[in-house]
Amino acid sequence: MKVAKLYKFNEIKIEEIPIPEIKSNEALVKVKACGICSGDVMPWYIEKKAPLVLGHEISGEIVKIGDTIKDEIKLKEGDKVFVHHHAPCMECSYCKRGDHVQCETWKNSKIYPGGISEYIILPEVILKNDTLKIPEHVSFEEAALVEPVACVVKSLKRAHMKEGDTILIVGLGVMGQIHIMLAREFGAEKIIGADMVDFRLQKALEAGADYVINIKEENVYEKLKEITKGIMPQCIIVGPGDIKVIEFYLKALSKGGTILIFTPTPPGERISISINDLYFNDITITTSYSCGPEDTRKALEFISNKKINHKILITHEFGIDETPKAYEITSKAKESLKCLIKF
Ligand SMILES: [Zn+2]
Ligand SMILES: [Zn+2]
Repeated sequence: MKVAKLYKFNEIKIEEIPIPEIKSNEALVKVKACGICSGDVMPWYIEKKAPLVLGHEISGEIVKIGDTIKDEIKLKEGDKVFVHHHAPCMECSYCKRGDHVQCETWKNSKIYPGGISEYIILPEVILKNDTLKIPEHVSFEEAALVEPVACVVKSLKRAHMKEGDTILIVGLGVMGQIHIMLAREFGAEKIIGADMVDFRLQKALEAGADYVINIKEENVYEKLKEITKGIMPQCIIVGPGDIKVIEFYLKALSKGGTILIFTPTPPGERISISINDLYFNDITITTSYSCGPEDTRKALEFISNKKINHKILITHEFGIDETPKAYEITSKAKESLKCLIKF
């Protein structure tokens, strides 16, 4: 079978490896679609993992389930599924309070060899705790969006918006667009998108943004003041993992507001903030890393109920041989959103 293996940033080779054999507590899945993640094109992040078979936004069909696990799970051979690339134990102290991505089992679990592969093996814990059967009317393309949508579900939960809030979403790549599509479900009244690429600003309007700001051409603070009648947004989601951007938008927040850092910065980077300002303005700084089983279930529900317009999000589809091209387009972050590899 073919796999797409990344050796370093922008260096991907299509290789041939044997179809793996399953153990009695595993399952074999034929991959049908796999997205290229925005996180996989951050050079510092992906190169510490390389070499690896790329891809973790997976949908597919179960081909074979091992004997000892067959009766323990609700899935059967032939089922169309969404597959999460990690799954938690559901029993440890982190899991019990919903911090699933901090669970040791979550961190250590993985699919083999990686999503952009004709077949993959799912270990027991992923089969049991985060492999979801997809409804008949949901396509493989849509199901490949469950993981990114789930990351946004978690983010919007952690942003703790209140009814009537204005939300600003900075960075209108695919994750920014999904935030725009779902923000109203989490209480937002006015939705504003900011980016410097016209293609992405236009997409945001189609996705449901009430206003967009071209940060290259407009004065962002002035524009926000005008839209919010001087109050400023109560919630800001910062897409780019960039210190300067985070510092800039910390100053664009309403009193009582929350800024959510959606992407990590490279390790070791620091910002200096005034605790006095934070304190007297009741500012919350928060983050959102990946997603867990509650988020994937909610994401599948949103997709199933057509709250996610996949036609806006999926801008490119390729076969596995064209993975290097799909990766390059994703990393350029211009006139593209989600690049999908289809099998
Ligand atoms: Zn992803
Ligand atoms: Zn756990």
